Amino acid sequence: MIIHSDWHIHSEASYDSSLPLAEIAEGTKALGLDRYGITDHANYNDTKFLGDLRRSAEIVTAFQKTHKNVILGVELTPIGKPEFDYIQKTGTRKGHVDPDGPTPFGIELAQTKEELMALGVRYAIGAAHWRIDLPNSKKMTPILDESIREWYRQQLFLACDERVTILGHPWYHGNAIWYEDFSIIPASMNADIAAALKENGKYVECNAHFFLSKNTSEKFRRQYAEFLRSLFEMGIPVTYGSDSHDTYAKSVEAVEAYLAAAGFADGDIADLSDDALW
Ligand SMILES: [Zn+2]
Ligand SMILES: [Zn+2]
Repeated sequence: MIIHSDWHIHSEASYDSSLPLAEIAEGTKALGLDRYGITDHANYNDTKFLGDLRRSAEIVTAFQKTHKNVILGVELTPIGKPEFDYIQKTGTRKGHVDPDGPTPFGIELAQTKEELMALGVRYAIGAAHWRIDLPNSKKMTPILDESIREWYRQQLFLACDERVTILGHPWYHGNAIWYEDFSIIPASMNADIAAALKENGKYVECNAHFFLSKNTSEKFRRQYAEFLRSLFEMGIPVTYGSDSHDTYAKSVEAVEAYLAAAGFADGDIADLSDDALW
């Protein structure tokens, strides 16, 4: 067994998930995991997402009375500065229109570390989900080279931001535009991201999505496991994240098989250390 903990799980408090904590507890126990973290989304600094986050904190804190091995985390998504500023002013995204330029927009995360800590959040996954180098209406525009540059920009930001504990699902893309051959991502970009992760003491995530999605090619999966292994060999600790949303992910063996083929052995996938937790 290579995977002993799961640091990326969405609960029913998340806008895109319906998983009750009891089901997560059962699922992680069935896999023999020692610890796990709940990381609901904080996409925007509006009242809706803040409400979701409060609810997440409430249910996890209550659950911890009987389940000592669950930790409260959060998943942060880069958003564009014009939208962030508008929401700060008005409390809502409604009515916001991104300006035409200058692009790419500056990068913001919805919450400050102080705000997250006040809710009892103890770590954050930071992960790129869409483009913010274009006005919001075009956030999934799948032009390959532009999108690669934009993911690189956001991931480098996340690898340097003090709020981020774990760089979540590096090179995840909702439309799978580069899921045939991972070598399309320039090695120099990965070298920069790795250097920033290492220098800033960040973790990087092995997200089950890449190995279980029907959208990734067999070749991509092998290359991706090797990419994670190269980060591990640089001294960047690799955590596991099932990124479960609707059912608790049961297919950990399939992920472990790819990891083992890339050289990972028992003890190589990290638990979050107490030093890393806020
Ligand atoms: Zn995500
Ligand atoms: Zn997630």
